[in-house]
Amino acid sequence: MTSTNKRQRSGILSSLALLTLLVSVGCNPSNPNQQTSVEKSPQVQEASQSSVKTKVVTTFLPIYLLTKAVAGDAAEVEILVPPGMEVHEYQATPDNVKAIATANILVKNGLGLEEFLENTVKNAQNSQLVEIYASKGIKPLNEISPVETTVKTEKDHDHEHTIGNPHVWLDPVLAKQQVMNIRDGLIAADPKNQATYTANAAAYIQELEKLNSEFQQDLQKKPNCTFVTFHDAYPYLAQRYNLKQVAVVQIPEDQLSPTDIQTVVNTVKKYKVKALFSEPGVDNKLLKSLSQDLNLKLQTLDSLETGDTDPQYYFQAMRLNLQTLESACK
Ligand SMILES: [Zn+2]
Repeated sequence: MTSTNKRQRSGILSSLALLTLLVSVGCNPSNPNQQTSVEKSPQVQEASQSSVKTKVVTTFLPIYLLTKAVAGDAAEVEILVPPGMEVHEYQATPDNVKAIATANILVKNGLGLEEFLENTVKNAQNSQLVEIYASKGIKPLNEISPVETTVKTEKDHDHEHTIGNPHVWLDPVLAKQQVMNIRDGLIAADPKNQATYTANAAAYIQELEKLNSEFQQDLQKKPNCTFVTFHDAYPYLAQRYNLKQVAVVQIPEDQLSPTDIQTVVNTVKKYKVKALFSEPGVDNKLLKSLSQDLNLKLQTLDSLETGDTDPQYYFQAMRLNLQTLESACK
């Protein structure tokens, strides 16, 4: 993705973030103040010293969802990148440093996604911090999507490709592996809650397995369905279910030249593209007019980098993605 395009997306997403924040005040499950104010009862607190909850800090939405699912109410789970902020562009804040400084555990996706963490963790100077790498053992995909671009850019700071594509959570089977890594990490760091973590993880894994069979069943009738996205987020999902994310078309911020349009038209023909996918909350006039020119429907796929903080949101969003893929790949 080019820097101009990135700016544009983060602009849109930041305004969304603001909106999300405004809407979610008062119902955010990760708000620790609220939790303690509800639970605080002086006698109970004195009675059980060990009731001080383990503090777990997660990096961004998918990792928060999976961690919260495993932790339940046994640990206090926070998120560093507020849902709605663009994780690929994220700059750490002093509050992030504070959160890590006082945390017991940090859970991250890895695969180069959370570059902002490097200095943040250093600055937090928390020698007791346990780090859980959710993508441990997952073999990253690289350069699976041939990229046709309408913008000439040097391959500059596209960090996603230096270590591998980081969007593993969008494949339910790999999400399951992430849940197991998170479960094992939480148990190792906080063994007193082993039973809870084990049971919660098992329940969530069962749901992930069900989701996987739904994807398998519904998409096996549409092998090699080819789609274009504007965010290189779906190579794992595509590989798992025999779809093809063949091209990530980067478009300029302001205007498409006739040459740009020709490039996209050629790409769509070359790969027999069935669908163009944008993302929820991205309202881009260029994409709209482009899809009209191409006579392709512009639909949205959710990369889950932003959205609701209820662990069930993963399944809601993924089932919507499945519906979208099914209808697009007809
Ligand atoms: Zn992404």
